[in-house]
Amino acid sequence: MTTTLAIANQKGGVAKTTSVASIGAALAELGHSVLLVDLDPQACLTFSLGIDPEDLELSVHHVLTKGLDPTEVVLQTDDGVALMPATIELARAEADLLTRTGREHVLRSMIEDLAARGSHYDWILLDCPPSLGVLTVAALTAADGVLVPLQCETLSHRGVGQLLDTVHDVKRFTNRDLVVWGVLPTLYDGRTTHARTVLETISETYDLEVVEPPIPKTIKFAEAPAAGRSILATSRSSKGAAAYRAVAANLVTRAGRAS
Ligand code: ADP
Ligand code: MG
Repeated sequence: MTTTLAIANQKGGVAKTTSVASIGAALAELGHSVLLVDLDPQACLTFSLGIDPEDLELSVHHVLTKGLDPTEVVLQTDDGVALMPATIELARAEADLLTRTGREHVLRSMIEDLAARGSHYDWILLDCPPSLGVLTVAALTAADGVLVPLQCETLSHRGVGQLLDTVHDVKRFTNRDLVVWGVLPTLYDGRTTHARTVLETISETYDLEVVEPPIPKTIKFAEAPAAGRSILATSRSSKGAAAYRAVAANLVTRAGRAS
């Protein structure tokens, strides 16, 4: 059984990419096989896992828009996870796909195609771009669940309603089985009551679960991408790494419950 999770929030800078890299590395530490898919033309996930997008000839763009065999694009990373990398060409995919029939299903077919070709993963994590465009809708259409990283500050959750509207549409038209797994509090400063209050307000207003524990705000995260490894490797025993390990363990429990 593969569990596919979309990590989505149309707001930039809320730690989508950091969460995908760190949760992926934590799941790999637990012995699970993991594929991370970079769906952001900025290719931050690809870069942060030690691969320079400019050196790549093939990327997720070729799979989604040109029907390339996805197994030809998957790379192994030093973090023990497989990666479907992105390059800036992906910026064109959004426009290319707009006029295509079945565009919402391109990622779902890619995942089915991988399985048909014998590439099996316990987890597939989809790193969504900061928009609610074609790629995010395709990710939600391919996913079993969606995780919403959220910075616990006033105003930063103003887009959550819009994201949930998109989830609602996806459930209606392209993926009836999609489940919102919850909000993942990121860049969390637990010393302030403000952060805690914001978190409670959000989960109550939108009736969403909160995936625990919150990820603390720490400078260690700034150092990891430049090293081409996730924080689990660059700061093994930091609070941030421990928090992501605990989140990953909770997701494993949740997946067991869901399947
Ligand atoms: P997104 O993918 O949502 O745009 P990123 O994962 O790229 O967000 O994170 C945005 C910035 O915040 C990056 O510079 C990243 O290193 C930093 N960051 C992420 N998580 C933390 C954290 N817990 N503490 C401090 N900085 C963080
Ligand atoms: Mg990102």
